[in-house]
This record gives sequence, C-alpha cells and structure tokens, in this order.
Amino acid sequence: MPVQCELDWRFFQVITPWLPLDVVCRIRPARCGNCGEFHPQHIHSYRDRNMVLADGTSAAILVVRFRCPYCKRTITALPKECLVRNQHEGETVVGCLEHRLLTGHTMDNPAASRPLQRYWYSGLCWQLAEISCRLEPHEAAGILHSWPVFSVLCAKPFRRLSWCDVVFRPDAYHHPLFLAIHIDSS
Ligand SMILES: [Zn+2]
Repeated sequence: MPVQCELDWRFFQVITPWLPLDVVCRIRPARCGNCGEFHPQHIHSYRDRNMVLADGTSAAILVVRFRCPYCKRTITALPKECLVRNQHEGETVVGCLEHRLLTGHTMDNPAASRPLQRYWYSGLCWQLAEISCRLEPHEAAGILHSWPVFSVLCAKPFRRLSWCDVVFRPDAYHHPLFLAIHIDSS
C-alpha cells in the first residue's frame, strides 16, 4: 500500500544502506492504513528506487516499507514528489499534463518524451472520464491539481483519500483496500 509523506525526496537519497533514524521516525505511519490499528509500524525492508528529475537527470533513493504488526500488511512511504509506479518527479508529470490539457499539445520537456507524455495523457483522460465525460480544460486542470501528486497516474483500484477520511472495515485485512493516502507526517 503506497502512502505519500510530506518529506522531500532529498531526505531519501542513498548515502547508507538505510535511512537515518530521524527520517524514519518522521515518515513512519502512526496508524495502519489497512486495519486501522494505532500502532507504530515496524520497518519491513528498504527498496532502491530511481527518480527522474525535472531536468532529465536521475537520482537514486531508498524507500522504506513498513509492516503492520497486527494485519501484516506492508505500507511503502514515498517522498512527496514520487508517483506510484512511475519514476518521474510529480512536478514533471503534472506540468506536462496541465500543458496538454490547456493547450492541446505536448510540451518540449527534457525529462519526458512526447510519446511518454501522450501515454500519461491517455491515462489521465481515462481517469477524468470516470468523473465526467464533459469537462472543460480548466476544470480538468483543477481536478488534476486537487489530487495528491503521487496518485496522478494511479490505476483504477486506487481510491484517493486523505488520512482523516479513511474508514476501516473490521474485515479489512481479508479484503485489502487500495488507498492513495496523503499523510501529514511533518
Ligand atoms: Zn494493520
């Protein structure tokens, strides 16, 4: 389960095989997003991840997977600029999509080829069509900006919820929810 935290990706840069304790403490969810237990999550593992930055260069980061001691579900805490299943910085993706929505054209961007931008745009259109089939460009851009950055290209099973809106079901860990949650961990 991916969870966005409020820390910049630079806190996650690979310097040692693990992250500093103070960073882990700041991104550790205080509550399980699956069963809802208020219990600090255990560190489960670290995972390498590549980030493509806005200027087209890339950086290696480490993300932490936490594990709930009760339901055993793992939660991956992502920096605020990261997208789920996408290496590009959120600013790049949102910028390209907004440009396409408002101008009707892909933009010249060192970090994202035009075919890639078209692929992102088709995913966005598919999601917007779930909301309404008649959206003005500025309305679509408003919706795009209202979503947590990391969920902009989320596939269908994800629901966008803020942490305070999560409703837990007693049988949740038998039927996992897929949530895109913005947590305030700062
Ligand atoms: Zn749990």
